[in-house]
Amino acid sequence: MSEIDTQETSPIARLLETWSHLTAEEKLQTFRSLPAGESEDFFLALDAREHAALFQDFNRAERRLWLRFLAPDDAADLIQELPEELRGEALAMIDEKIRREIIALLSYREDEAGGLMSPRFVRVRPDMLVAEALRYVRQQALFVDPIHYIYVLDSNQRLLGVLSLRQLFVSPAEKRMSEVMEDKVVTIPDEMDQEQVGRMFQQHRFVALPVVDREGLMQGIVTLDDILDVSQEEATEDIQKLGGQEALDAPYPQVPLPEMIKKRAGWLMLLFVGEMFTATAMQQFEGEIEKAVVLALFIPLIISSGGNSGSQATTLIIRSLALRELRLSDWRRVMGREILTGVSLGGILAAIGMVRILLWPNRATAYTEHYALVALTVGLSLIGVVLFGSVVGAMLPFLLRSLKLDPASASAPFVATLVDVTGLVIYFSVARMLLTGTLL
Ligand code: ATP
Repeated sequence: MSEIDTQETSPIARLLETWSHLTAEEKLQTFRSLPAGESEDFFLALDAREHAALFQDFNRAERRLWLRFLAPDDAADLIQELPEELRGEALAMIDEKIRREIIALLSYREDEAGGLMSPRFVRVRPDMLVAEALRYVRQQALFVDPIHYIYVLDSNQRLLGVLSLRQLFVSPAEKRMSEVMEDKVVTIPDEMDQEQVGRMFQQHRFVALPVVDREGLMQGIVTLDDILDVSQEEATEDIQKLGGQEALDAPYPQVPLPEMIKKRAGWLMLLFVGEMFTATAMQQFEGEIEKAVVLALFIPLIISSGGNSGSQATTLIIRSLALRELRLSDWRRVMGREILTGVSLGGILAAIGMVRILLWPNRATAYTEHYALVALTVGLSLIGVVLFGSVVGAMLPFLLRSLKLDPASASAPFVATLVDVTGLVIYFSVARMLLTGTLL
């Protein structure tokens, strides 16, 4: 068996997989029955929401034990997840020094750099000799985990430089830290939004980045694994919004039914009301439908093609904006591309649709003797509708971004609804132009 297989089937990994299916009572029993050593590893593998849930079910001794077991940033996250009335009690269980660290962390919002960071990092003074610094780092290693870089701070906690553990080891023992450190340090402001923090990591490829406040005083570090979770959360949020609903803010199985309904109903109602306009649009063309019932046959085909092409475009652009591959100023270029893409895609669908009508065995009975004109109407409408869908789908995220709203709120179903109504208008207008005098 490969190493990866062994890891995947370790008892902890197996338990983590089934954890969300257990009731609170079962979770507590299972956790208590874990052998020593395993329970620590398992507890560390849980997220803050699960920590807080277990914490509430623990007895007092367990609460104290496990809260103190966590690193200050994880303890702060646990406390943030607790109901208001339990937070004071939880804080009181922690030693004074760490409590101060946690209170400082709690003053940050969860989704900014300060809320993500760990206040523990290895620090040395600029005038220390490398030999001294090595000894000093050894002492700190007892309390700091993990150690990737050594930060050089002056007596006011101002960040002056950084170096890797390897650099520290290979530097001559008699040099001063100020001589061997890297003094152009990439830092993150403590109020930077977590999405932007993620981008800093992508850009600079360090395993940890220092967080500084407005005065340049170092507050903590954010590590790559903190940011991995964030990237996943942000992507989940975008995908949920893209699907036409509010983000759930919790794993699907854990969202209570009433909240699930509430989060989904809002958009669904809005889309439903939007779709009602298709009825209004169709009323405008009632005369045409009455005269040429054959036109009604192709309504679903035409409007769904517009909706689908709009959903494609909107999904691509939202993701590209989120990844910063596209900027707001790129909208013209995107519009040009989508016009070409829309016409080409519409042309492909039109060709398939027209061949279908023109080669259908009993076409004259199914689509009247003017079936060639019907085919042309369907073909031209498809080009128009797909073109419109692609352009609107691509432009809407830009519009939302320029209004300082989340482009992901454009949502594929929203674009589809918008394009459905216009698709009908395009279809019947083309029909009026081509079929007046024959079918109409
Ligand atoms: P080395 O490059 O010394 O082998 P490494 O591979 O362990 O160490 P990297 O993560 O590749 O370390 O970092 C490369 C170098 O970047 C480190 O030596 C360190 O001096 C520097 N560095 C680390 N953090 C920062 C930062 N925030 N800003 C600027 N430079 C940094």
